[in-house]
Amino acid sequence: MEKITRRSFVNKFGIGIGASVIVTTLPSFLYEPELNSLPYIGKKINLAICGLGIYANIVAESMQGSEYCHLAGIVTGTPSKAVKWKDRYNIPEKNIYNYENFDEIINNKDIDMVYVILPNSLHKEFVIRSAKAGKHVITEKPMAINVKECEEMIKACNDNKVQLAIGYRLHYEPTHLEIKRLGQEKVFGQVRYIESSLGYKTYDTIAKTPVDINSPANWRLNKKLSGGGPLMDLGIYCIQASRYILGEEPISVTAQFGTINDKNRFSETEESISWQMKFPSGAMANGNTSCGYNIDRTYASADYGSFELSPGLSYGPYEGKTSKGPLKFPPIKQQQKQLDEISKLLLENKQLPNHITGEEGLKDIKIINAIYKAAETGKKVSLS
Ligand code: NAD
Repeated sequence: MEKITRRSFVNKFGIGIGASVIVTTLPSFLYEPELNSLPYIGKKINLAICGLGIYANIVAESMQGSEYCHLAGIVTGTPSKAVKWKDRYNIPEKNIYNYENFDEIINNKDIDMVYVILPNSLHKEFVIRSAKAGKHVITEKPMAINVKECEEMIKACNDNKVQLAIGYRLHYEPTHLEIKRLGQEKVFGQVRYIESSLGYKTYDTIAKTPVDINSPANWRLNKKLSGGGPLMDLGIYCIQASRYILGEEPISVTAQFGTINDKNRFSETEESISWQMKFPSGAMANGNTSCGYNIDRTYASADYGSFELSPGLSYGPYEGKTSKGPLKFPPIKQQQKQLDEISKLLLENKQLPNHITGEEGLKDIKIINAIYKAAETGKKVSLS
């Protein structure tokens, strides 16, 4: 009798093939693990997370159960967080650092990689210090706050022969891999137009009194720490989606700042911004991001059809459809998948793929810079 494995089931019944897909978990009676799906029990990449804020907590929880990556250390400026994390994740005292003694990590053979999850303007310093300590490093998006910083980070990693990745979690998420495939393989023909927007109404009420943008909790409103407003934080996902659907780089941008409704909070950074990117194929992408209203969707119109996700860029689960039917995948632990894929390559001494390295992060920062320049000047800014 034919042995039914996940692969033969997929081949036989065609799940995942074609323009529109509905993928659900296979019934357990149909699933016998293939030999290559046995759990990995070899060496893992030992990771130290630097900066223990909201996203660091999400990463730490998601990576529990990771096959190739182990949370082995932490770097924090807050002693009470060190105690909590030590207890929760069983972190040895010798793998706990603060921002001052962090460079001593060079002597710690039990840490292979550092994940920098700090406010944007601190990414550069901690990536370079990690590289100088001989550690591979992942830094959160946006890579840094300007082009010069990105170039310095790339150089430091090259000079110290360590690899640099950017925390582009959606590059490992099946729904996003599918919209990338639909666009780049021209499943519905050439994509002509994309709309991608991501915004969160971050505050419930408009601030009646001045807001302290120097408080660490408000670092996103402080231009020195954030480098910019929602474009740096959220709009980057829309830029990314447009780029990976098309597989092209924008050649020019125009942009407009939105209304500032809350002058107390948005004294240094934009509250909303819209932009338009033109690509070599002639395709246009409209992007929009805001901290003043909620929006979360990506729509692509191609010669013979369309595809869209809504919600589509947040943490998911994502809802999608194409002009031929639904597009939906079961949710995954995004950060675990991202860390597993990166760690697996590092364990095999392989190069990380270009689409997640410092060069990719730098491309986004160049586009973000151009968008800000276009909004400030009211003129088209060329990127080629
Ligand atoms: P957060 O404010 O929750 O955490 C920031 C951490 O940095 C805190 O632990 C804080 O104590 C520490 N810190 C050190 N020096 C600081 C200073 N001078 N000012 C303020 N904080 C300081 O922020 P977050 O939401 O965790 O974001 C951190 C990074 O992660 C950002 O770059 C952000 O863009 C990124 N992020 C990525 C995702 C994603 O889905 N990939 C999601 C959220 C945030």
